[in-house]
Amino acid sequence: MSERWTPQSWRSKPIQQAPAYPDEKALSDVEATLATFPPLVFAGEARKLKRDLAKVAKGEAFLLQGGDCAESFAEHGADNIRDFFRVFLQMAVVLTFAGSSPVVKVGRIAGQFAKPRSAPMEKIGDVELPVYRGDIVNGTEFTAEARIPDPRRQLEAYRQSAATLNLLRAFAGGGYANLAHVHQWMLGFVKDSPQSSKYQALAGRISETLDFMRACGIDPELHPEMRVTDFYTSHEALLLGFEQAMTRIDSTSGDPYATSGHFIWIGDRTRQLDHAHVEFFRGVKNPIGLKCGPSLKPDELIRLIDVLNPDNEAGRLTLIARFGHDKVEQHLPELIRAVKREGRTVVWSCDPMHGNTVKATNGYKTRPFDQITGEIKSFFAVHEAEGSYAGGLHLEMTGKNVTECTGGARAVSEADLADRYHTHCDPRLNADQALEVAFMVAELVKK
Ligand code: PEP
Ligand code: MN
Repeated sequence: MSERWTPQSWRSKPIQQAPAYPDEKALSDVEATLATFPPLVFAGEARKLKRDLAKVAKGEAFLLQGGDCAESFAEHGADNIRDFFRVFLQMAVVLTFAGSSPVVKVGRIAGQFAKPRSAPMEKIGDVELPVYRGDIVNGTEFTAEARIPDPRRQLEAYRQSAATLNLLRAFAGGGYANLAHVHQWMLGFVKDSPQSSKYQALAGRISETLDFMRACGIDPELHPEMRVTDFYTSHEALLLGFEQAMTRIDSTSGDPYATSGHFIWIGDRTRQLDHAHVEFFRGVKNPIGLKCGPSLKPDELIRLIDVLNPDNEAGRLTLIARFGHDKVEQHLPELIRAVKREGRTVVWSCDPMHGNTVKATNGYKTRPFDQITGEIKSFFAVHEAEGSYAGGLHLEMTGKNVTECTGGARAVSEADLADRYHTHCDPRLNADQALEVAFMVAELVKK
């Protein structure tokens, strides 16, 4: 690992989850084209996020990260992005106001296209085909043609990411995120939603607070933090050819940055110490994440931290724990203790989704709401017992009223899953369930 890092040094390492492109020339042509495109995000923004995450590492803020399991080309549209952004803002305001904590907002969006899979092939009846690996690689349709990796999809992923980011920047900076609109974020939201009255009550208290400030002679509108918000993008940087093509040298610092998103993470299936993904990540200066699943041993984690954050920079590394509601108490304490013993500064975030995926009796892949909240509660309890800070939450969620995870206040049943099951990959919390989680976590954060 001590060899010189370059944006392509990962190519000489073993790699997991890499698509088998049939046409090498077409692939390298696309990568060369991508390398000429403007960056999607700027190094200065990634540095700002790193500073924000450094505050989380110190226990002074909370990280909220969420979005689709996989973005899709077919469902790309302004309404979807707005609905996601709206519920995300609602969650952030719940955590900020009810949880009394500044919230660092990071979407799994504008680049979350490549998916790791548990098996390379998928069989339906007698037909066996390569698996779907995300819209940036191949198509979901169960046909031999759709499943062939097509490099031109990377250009479409870039285009979609740029368009999504453009709208998000407008929402975050152009008035939509103004706290004075805290009531309007509820508009369009399922009216009889169990969470809506709770949210309206909270929005009412915020409005009163703003009125009180005005009465005291402080105009909230004159304070930019009331009108605009910092909203960052993130994705699993799985497709390294794409990531390499989007890596740029920052003119201010002279350092390499992944400009495909502000924050990128390494998945639980690609975190081998001597493999390609760890090699790529060690060289870019963005804030990064590492998914930590049940097979990760404490000494292995410390060796990964040695490589990924050798200078022990606060905000550089977020450890995203995803053990499962019944395994978190068994695995998390030993990792927290190792990190503490070695004096490493990290953000600890909880992904309560990926360890709690089950198959419903009718065949749908789902996640029971109680298991999701159960893992979150255990995550907080373990941190409290270990004297460390539970700093973040990482969710798969959508602004739409889908039926993909069972349970919640509206009690989605297994039979309901067939109604609005739209995910391209893993089951997501719907808007109602996501807000319910935010209210629950606000109570835990406040303690
Ligand atoms: C994901 O975040 O969609 C994912 C595949 O997670 P993990 O790497 O933790 O399985
Ligand atoms: Mn997922």
